[in-house]
Amino acid sequence: MLSLNEIIEKIIKGSSLDEKEVNAQIDKKVEELGGVVSKTGAALVVAREHNVDMEMKAAARELKINELEPQMSNVSFFGKVLSVYPVNEFKTEKGEGKVQNILLGDESSRIRMSFWNEEISKAADIKEGDVILVENPWIVSDNQGRPEARLGRGGSLKKAEKDITVDALSRKDGLEDIKDGDAISFTGTVVEVHDRALIYDFCPECRARLSSGECERHGKVAPDRMLIISCLVDDGKRSISTVFFREVAERLLGKNVKKIAEELTEKDPSDVTSGIVSKRFKIDGRVKLSKFTGDLEIVANDVDEV
Ligand SMILES: [Zn+2]
Repeated sequence: MLSLNEIIEKIIKGSSLDEKEVNAQIDKKVEELGGVVSKTGAALVVAREHNVDMEMKAAARELKINELEPQMSNVSFFGKVLSVYPVNEFKTEKGEGKVQNILLGDESSRIRMSFWNEEISKAADIKEGDVILVENPWIVSDNQGRPEARLGRGGSLKKAEKDITVDALSRKDGLEDIKDGDAISFTGTVVEVHDRALIYDFCPECRARLSSGECERHGKVAPDRMLIISCLVDDGKRSISTVFFREVAERLLGKNVKKIAEELTEKDPSDVTSGIVSKRFKIDGRVKLSKFTGDLEIVANDVDEV
């Protein structure tokens, strides 16, 4: 429980009133309430009337990245910036928007953090190799059910004066003896790009797939446009389906989603992606059992041409 003086201080900080005015309002409130409420009680009522938050928030729990789960709140984590991706701009009937993603990692896992619209300025000084502390983020679920961090209303980030080791996860080199869930790093040649749509629109609120620009729950929304490329990659011993999402897919193609959307207005998907066929890439990712085919596939986290 806060003391009267602490409450008065908080009201002064959180409203446009000065000390004298706060005291006057508290005295008035005691009178209004018929003298049956203490000054401290009346001060709390005054605070509420001015929307001053009296809650003493518990310190955010500091978690490792692999402990973060969608819908968690009041958490914090340290992450090393592994990649800073370019800003993507999009345009809809509702206006223009933009989103920028970064990839953060610690010794336990990796997570994508996305900055929307005016939040992007808060990511402006962040560069690869920095270690940042993300406090009170909003953890959402991405299209594959993996956690993704956003700043949200109460979130903040700052550079941290420490280094962290990233990815002590056991990682297999090469495609031999892989199983569901393995982290993997391999070099392979794209032998085929699967023939399907390249860009999909999702609701930025709930991540549902949009149908003709609308979400079933949220109506017309500025779509979160996602690039998805699915390829057959061969490392010399075997070929495996490998899926690239979003900025990893942009990195694979060497162009951003906006440019690809433009090209798709006049070209077939296969012509837009033909440049990567026969090229060799170093791919980091995770092995997953495909729900559709029942075969193992790779979901790429990072890709570089070699
Ligand atoms: Zn929605």
